[in-house]
Amino acid sequence: MRVANLQGRAAFITPENLAIDIERASSGALPHDPMQLFERWAQVRKLAATVHGGVPFAAADLDAPSPLPRQIFGIGLNYREHAVETGAPIPDTPLTFTKFASAVNKPFGDIPIEVSTTDWEIELVVVIGSGGRNIAESAAWDAVAGLCVGQDISDRVLQRATQPPQFNLGKSRRGYAPFGPWLVDATTVSNRDALALTCTLNGEVVQQSNSSDLIFSIPQLVAYLSSIVELCPGDAIFTGTPSGVGGARTPPRFLTSGDVLVSTIDGVGSITNRCV
Ligand code: ZN
Repeated sequence: MRVANLQGRAAFITPENLAIDIERASSGALPHDPMQLFERWAQVRKLAATVHGGVPFAAADLDAPSPLPRQIFGIGLNYREHAVETGAPIPDTPLTFTKFASAVNKPFGDIPIEVSTTDWEIELVVVIGSGGRNIAESAAWDAVAGLCVGQDISDRVLQRATQPPQFNLGKSRRGYAPFGPWLVDATTVSNRDALALTCTLNGEVVQQSNSSDLIFSIPQLVAYLSSIVELCPGDAIFTGTPSGVGGARTPPRFLTSGDVLVSTIDGVGSITNRCV
């Protein structure tokens, strides 16, 4: 099952890449607002099994699958090779920061380049369904609505502008949190713990890895975060980026206007962001 946000209305995306409006398909039993569906995800799954048909849609009309999350978590240094390339030790606790919700961008949205130190980070993004507190690792996947592709765009100078560093603002400039193109129901992804990620910049592969290399797995992250804060329906977790970011290169390489970033996770989808 794939659920997209088409101009503010939740829609199933069929295997033929056609859209089915969820409110209409449910004869009004389910709301059109994607944010109101997460706590009723069991109903959404049930409905998905009964629908057929659909209409074509334009990728440009896709909005973030959770457009107004109450919380967005970012996990730093969650791939071994990325921790090594930044010179940081392998963490024994998830390094957690926030991307403020005003940074949410469309899956095919432009990224404004406001500073010369803007970097890319392809990430597997988890969107929470029912949520809650103290979710056990063994129950974590049940609390997840779905998976999507994200870019944890980062201003590397702002990220480390203070001592000690506070990543939050450097991760939250305008348009810095594109994700989508839709949510893939994790219960329908057989290899959900081993997904291939590829990020290209102007056609050149800059990041290539597999989510099986995550230091903290998705169930571990859900259990850890929910032991501290309440996870709310629609919350997004950017689970960390593999090696190959621009700031860790010699010399460093950053995004400039005109660059095109394509981020793909096999079995999940692909997003494209143009730098402007
Ligand atoms: Zn990141």
